[in-house]
Amino acid sequence: MESSSVKFLVIGSGIAGLNFALSASKYGNVLLITKKRLIDSATAKAQGGIAAVLDPNDSFASHIKDTLVAGHFKNKKSAVEYLVKNAPRAIARLESLGMKFDKKARREGGHSFFRVAHAGDNTGAIVEKTLIKAVSKNPDIEIREHTKAIKIIKKNGQAIGIIAHDEQKNCTYEIRAKAVILATGGIGQKFKNTTNPKISEGDGIDMASSAGASLKDMQYIQFHPTVLFAPKKPRFLLTETLRGEGAKIINENHEQFLKKYHPLAELAPRDIICNAMWKEEKKGHHFFLDFTHKDSKKTKKDFPYIYKNLKKYGFDLTKDSIPIAPAQHYLCGGIAVDLSGRTSIPGLYAYGETARTGVHGANRLASNSLLEGLVFTMDIPKELR
Ligand SMILES: Cc1cc2nc3c(=O)[nH]c(=O)nc-3n(C[C@H](O)[C@H](O)[C@H](O)COP(=O)(O)OP(=O)(O)OC[C@H]3O[C@@H](n4cnc5c(N)ncnc54)[C@H](O)[C@@H]3O)c2cc1C
Repeated sequence: MESSSVKFLVIGSGIAGLNFALSASKYGNVLLITKKRLIDSATAKAQGGIAAVLDPNDSFASHIKDTLVAGHFKNKKSAVEYLVKNAPRAIARLESLGMKFDKKARREGGHSFFRVAHAGDNTGAIVEKTLIKAVSKNPDIEIREHTKAIKIIKKNGQAIGIIAHDEQKNCTYEIRAKAVILATGGIGQKFKNTTNPKISEGDGIDMASSAGASLKDMQYIQFHPTVLFAPKKPRFLLTETLRGEGAKIINENHEQFLKKYHPLAELAPRDIICNAMWKEEKKGHHFFLDFTHKDSKKTKKDFPYIYKNLKKYGFDLTKDSIPIAPAQHYLCGGIAVDLSGRTSIPGLYAYGETARTGVHGANRLASNSLLEGLVFTMDIPKELR
C-alpha cells in the first residue's frame, strides 16, 4: 500500500480517539486507524458510567475534593478543576449525539454524591456505539480497521507520521500527518490478571517512549477489588455501582471486614479496599461479593448485563455470593501531556487512558476515566485549528 498524508492521524477507536476525531474534523481531514474492529476497546466494556455534577444539590467543589482524596492529593489540581468543570458540557455533547442516560444517577466508591450518569449497567458500549455512529457518517473522517500503528516517525525532533501495518493485507506502509494522536488506551495485558480487553497492550506508551516522549506516574496502577475470580472463568468486572447499591464484600465466614479498614467500608476508594483485601488474604481469607439480600427482580432489571454474564459463568447474582479478587484495571500515569494533550514531542498528542493529564493522581476516582477521555478531546489544541 502507498503512503498517505493527512492533517490529523488518530490512533485508536475508544472514547478518546472517536471524540477527538469528531472535534478535529471541523479543522481538516482525519484518518482514524484502529488495530482490530472499531468497537474493540476498553470503552465498550465500561459498566458504571461517567461522573458529572448535574444535580443542583451537588457541587464542583465536592467532585474536585472526592477526586483529590481518591488520588491521595498526587493529582494536578488545574487538571482536576478542568475535568470537573467541563463534565456537564461533556455529558451534553454525548446527549447531542443521541446518547440517552438513565434518569437517576448512581453512586460509586469515593463519591460523596449520586453523580454517575449511566445507561443501564453497560454504559460504555452505548457511549462507544453513539460515537461510532457519529464518526461513521462524518465525511471528513476516514476509518481504517485492522490497521496497527507500530512506530512513530520523527524528523528534526518532530513527529511527522507513523509506520502502520495492515493486518488483513499483511503490508506495512507510512502515514504522514500534521498531528499524530495517540488514543491507544491502557496496559492491562501486561498483567496476568486484568479486567482490560485484549487490545489494551500499552502500544501507545511503548511507541511514545521509544520515540523519546516523557512518561509520568507509571507507578500508579489501579487494581479493581471486585473482579470475578473462579477457575477457568474470565476476569469479569463486577461494577462498583453494585456496591453503591448496597453490595457487601465478605469473607468465607460471611464477615464484612472492610469496616475495620475505612469508615466508608464498601464505598471506600478502590486502592483502600484492595489493600485491605491483600492484608486479609495474608491471614488466609478469600472473598465474595454478596448482593443476595437485594430484591431479585430489581437486581435483574437494574444489572441485566452483569446478571446475564454471571449466569453464563455459572453464578446467580440474586442467589450466590460471587468469588472475587483484585485485578489490574487502570493506568493512572502514562504519556505526560498538558491540558491540550501536547506531549514532549512537537506534533505528537495523547488522550484518554494512555495519557497522563494528572487528573487521577495516585488512584483514579470511579467513573472519572470515560470523563477524562471526553473532556480533553472536546477542544482541539490552538495550533491545529
Ligand atoms: C471492564 C472495564 C470497566 C470499566 N468501567 C468504567 C466506568 O464505568 N467508568 C469509567 O469512567 N471508566 C471505566 N473503565 C475505564 C475506561 O473504560 C477506560 O479507561 C477508557 O474507556 C479508555 O478509553 P480510551 O479511549 O483511552 O482507550 P480504549 O477505549 O481502550 O481504546 C483504545 C483503542 O486504541 C486501539 N489501539 C491500541 N493500540 C493500537 C495500535 N497500536 N494501533 C491502532 N490502534 C490501537 C484499540 O484497538 C482501541 O480501539 C472501565 C474499564 C474496564 C476494562
